[in-house]
Amino acid sequence: MIRTITEPARAIDVIHETDVLVVGSGPGGLAAALASARTGVQTTLVERYGCFGGNITQVGVEGFAWYRHPATVDSEGIGREFEDRAKAMGAALPEPQSISHALDAEAFKYVADVLVGEAGVQPMLHRMFVAPIVEDGEIRGIITESKAGREAILAKRVIDATGDADIAARVGAPVFKTPKDEMMSVSVMFSMCGVNKTAFIDAVKADPQTYADWAKDGEWSVTTAGKEDALFSPFLRKPFQAAHKAGILPDSLKTIAGTWGTVSDQGDLTYLNMVHMTLDGTDPDDLTTGEIEGRAQAMHAIAALRQFMPGCDNAKLRNFGMTLGIRDTRKIDAVYNMIDGDVRGQGRFDDSIGIFPEFIDGYGLLIIPTTGRYFHIPYRSMLPKSGPRNLIVAGRSLGGDKVSHAAVRNMMACAVAGQGAGVAAAISIKHDRDFHTVDIAKVQAELRRQGARIA
Ligand SMILES: Cc1cc2nc3c(=O)[nH]c(=O)nc-3n(C[C@H](O)[C@H](O)[C@H](O)COP(=O)(O)OP(=O)(O)OC[C@H]3O[C@@H](n4cnc5c(N)ncnc54)[C@H](O)[C@@H]3O)c2cc1C
Repeated sequence: MIRTITEPARAIDVIHETDVLVVGSGPGGLAAALASARTGVQTTLVERYGCFGGNITQVGVEGFAWYRHPATVDSEGIGREFEDRAKAMGAALPEPQSISHALDAEAFKYVADVLVGEAGVQPMLHRMFVAPIVEDGEIRGIITESKAGREAILAKRVIDATGDADIAARVGAPVFKTPKDEMMSVSVMFSMCGVNKTAFIDAVKADPQTYADWAKDGEWSVTTAGKEDALFSPFLRKPFQAAHKAGILPDSLKTIAGTWGTVSDQGDLTYLNMVHMTLDGTDPDDLTTGEIEGRAQAMHAIAALRQFMPGCDNAKLRNFGMTLGIRDTRKIDAVYNMIDGDVRGQGRFDDSIGIFPEFIDGYGLLIIPTTGRYFHIPYRSMLPKSGPRNLIVAGRSLGGDKVSHAAVRNMMACAVAGQGAGVAAAISIKHDRDFHTVDIAKVQAELRRQGARIA
C-alpha cells in the first residue's frame, strides 16, 4: 500500500496569457511555434530545459535527413528550413550516407534561438509543464513548475509537443504505450574529440559497412526491403567485436554497436549512437537507471574505439547528451490512427498537412526512400479521439501503429506535423472554430503559403 499525502489547495499566479501555447520545443514544438506565429497570432513556447530543439540539442540527434537520396521526394517547409538555416549559419556538416546535412547539435541551440526571435515567439525556458487547466470541457492553459515555483499560463489553444504526450495524458485524453520489452531502445548519445579524421575516414573507406551489416553477427534484427542492403551505412560493430575478444568489453554489453554521424576537421566524432537499453522513458526510476548505466556503457564503447578503431587512439569523450535519448513512449489514440499501409502504401488523405518520404526506421524495420515514394500525414492523427477541446498533439506521439510510428517519429516528419498543428491552432483562432471543426482547406492554404508541400 503506497502512503499518500494531501496537497493543500492554493492560489497560483497567472504569469502570462497567449493565443497559442506550445509546450515542448523539439522538431515538433519548434516548428509548431514558428508556424503559429507566422500565421499571425500571439504564440508562446514553453520548454523544461535551457535550450530549444528537443532531441536535436538536448540529446545530440544530428541526422535530420540521413535518409535522403537523389530520387527521394522529401517534405518541404519548416523542417527543410531547419537544415538550410543551420547550413547557412555554419551549424551543419555534410552527412556521410545521404545527400543531406547533419545538424550540429550544439550550434543548433543558437539557430533555434534566432528562429524563435525572428518569428516573434515568446520564449519561456526552464519551465516544466506539470498540470493542465481544464474548465467546461476545454483546456484553458497549463501550470508550470520552475525555480519560481508553481505558475499558471493561460491560452486559447494548447499544442502538446512534449514527445511523451504529457498534457494529453494529464487531461485524460486516451493514450497508449507499446509494452516495455517491445519499445524502441533508449540511448545515451555521446560525441568524442581528438579523432584523427584522415585515419578514421581511411579505415571506414577500407571496410565500408552497409545497412545489411546492422543485422549481421550481432544482437540486432533488421528487416529491409532488400534495396537498402548494399548501401553504405556509417555503422560500427567490428571494433566492439574485437574488444569483446580482447576482454575489454564485458559479454553483457553485446548490444553495443551503432552509427556515427559526422567527423569534423577539428576531430569531433559526433552523434555516436552506440548504447541501447530497454527502459520506459516515462518512469523516473527507469530514467535514473538508464542515465547512469548508459554513461557507463558509453565509456566502455570509447575504450573499445580507442583501441580498435583507427583514428580514435588519442580521442576522448567530448560530451554526453544533456539527457537520455528516448524514442518511444506515449502515443495518443487519435481521431485517425495511422497504419502500416499508410506509410508503406503511399497513403493519401484529404486532410493532409504535409508529406513525408517512405522512410521507416524502428521496431526492426528499415526502409530507405531511395525511390520517390511518399505518404501524406493526416491532420486527424494529431487530434485526440476524446478529452477536452482546444488541445492538439504534435511530434512523435501522433496516433498510429508501430510501423507508422517508425516513420512519423523521424524528426523531419515531426516538423511536418508541428507546422500543421501550429497553423491549425492559429487558423482555428482566427476563424473562431475549434480543432475538430477548423476548415482544413484554410489550414492547407496557409501551409502552402508557408512553403509546406501538402500533396
Ligand atoms: C538516440 C536517438 C536517435 C535518433 N535518431 C534519429 C535520426 O537519426 N533521425 C531522425 O529523424 N530521428 C531520430 N530519432 C527520433 C527523433 O529524435 C524523435 O522522434 C524526435 O526528436 C521527436 O520530436 P518531438 O518534437 O516529438 O520530441 P522531442 O524531440 O523529444 O522534444 C520534446 C521537447 O519537449 C520538452 N518537454 C518534454 N516534457 C516537457 C514538460 N513536461 N514540460 C516542458 N517541456 C517538456 C523536452 O525537453 C523537449 O525539448 C532518434 C531518437 C533518439 C532518442
